[in-house]
Amino acid sequence: MNTMLKAALSQIKDVSPILADDYPDKKRFKKAINELLTPQRFIERKISIKDKDGKKREFNAFRIQHNDARGPFKGGIRFHRNVSKDEVQALATLMSLKCAVTGIPYGGGKGGVMVDPSKLTKEELKDLSTEYAKFVTPYIGPWKDVPAPDVNTDGVIMSWMLEAYEKKVGVQAPATFTGKPLELGGSLGRTEATGQGGVFVLEAYLRRNLKLKINASKVTIAIQGFGNVGYYFAKIAKENGFRVVAVSDSSSGIYNPKGLEINTLSLFKQKGGSFKNYPLKAGTKLITNAELLGLPVTVLVPAALENSITKDNVEDISAKVVFEMANGPTTSEADRYLHEKGIDVIPDILSNSGGVTVSYFEWVQNLSGYYWTKERVNEELKKTITKAFTDIDKIVKEKRISYRRAANYLSVKRIIDAMMLRGRA
Ligand code: GLU
Repeated sequence: MNTMLKAALSQIKDVSPILADDYPDKKRFKKAINELLTPQRFIERKISIKDKDGKKREFNAFRIQHNDARGPFKGGIRFHRNVSKDEVQALATLMSLKCAVTGIPYGGGKGGVMVDPSKLTKEELKDLSTEYAKFVTPYIGPWKDVPAPDVNTDGVIMSWMLEAYEKKVGVQAPATFTGKPLELGGSLGRTEATGQGGVFVLEAYLRRNLKLKINASKVTIAIQGFGNVGYYFAKIAKENGFRVVAVSDSSSGIYNPKGLEINTLSLFKQKGGSFKNYPLKAGTKLITNAELLGLPVTVLVPAALENSITKDNVEDISAKVVFEMANGPTTSEADRYLHEKGIDVIPDILSNSGGVTVSYFEWVQNLSGYYWTKERVNEELKKTITKAFTDIDKIVKEKRISYRRAANYLSVKRIIDAMMLRGRA
């Protein structure tokens, strides 16, 4: 079992002793917990495409459906060379918890293909997306399982997948995928939703804990990762007056204690640049990803991949709060260490839940055929995610436990309640 899967399962195991008090029937409770440790369904196959030279190439593809007691399975599809069955299972488990904690009516699932998409031509990427959609077609649908983008996938890929799915089933069914382009039934605000939701949670956290009201510019932020999530988090945090002092890609980080020009950095990345070649201006310097983790900032935001904060680098962290925008960026050991040191960790299932929350709004719009304004999307996102924060914060203060434990407590409880109502446990 890999580190990430271990960490995901321990989210459930770790809260079971505090949850047990809420369930007098110990046998039923145990059964429910055990069921949550294994997904309901593993779907796995090798899918193949012909590459540009006409040669057949095979890829391992997965869809893992963790739990659907609260609603259809929901979760993204990741294209990455490190995708594995364990990783997809871990991510599917986290999706069940994430949807439960925000209170949106979904279960959890995740998909993935073991591939380095930067090595594919556009045509190959389209063929791979189409083959993946054909492979999962029998298992997905608006009331079964609703995929979305994740690492290295986007609205264009969702469009190809929707086309392949609809061709097979013979009906229009836009609510089968979320994160689509607007032209195909996507929602305004979905692209930036994960970053926007994160900033809403950060504001709620700071208001509650650091008593920081208006002086956001005193709050310094370092962000590891500058993909969709890291970029929009940085951009929106800056627009809201926070001081983003460092960002990084996989090559290096850029640091300026006075604050960075996020738009200039983004334009540079859009042209395919690597931060290690970024033309530095006075006051800005190049740092390593390891140095970024150790910066003396208010908020450290891991927004890249899993396992970036481990027992080997956690002691370097001097931020006041770690704000998880990636899925599973902190290993269990590192998480324990941070808790002991009194550094709050705002868990992924809360802080990055803006993406799936707006996916839910997209699905609602598709099913009703009526489309919302961006103002309405953001207003409802703020309401939903701030309520999730407040619910968790209440548990933190009442039970004197960490934000992660409180979020897990709330989400596992909601899933178990749904399972029991259905007679599954
Ligand atoms: N991939 C995103 C996540 O990990 C979004 C999932 C979705 O919208 O279904 O939360």
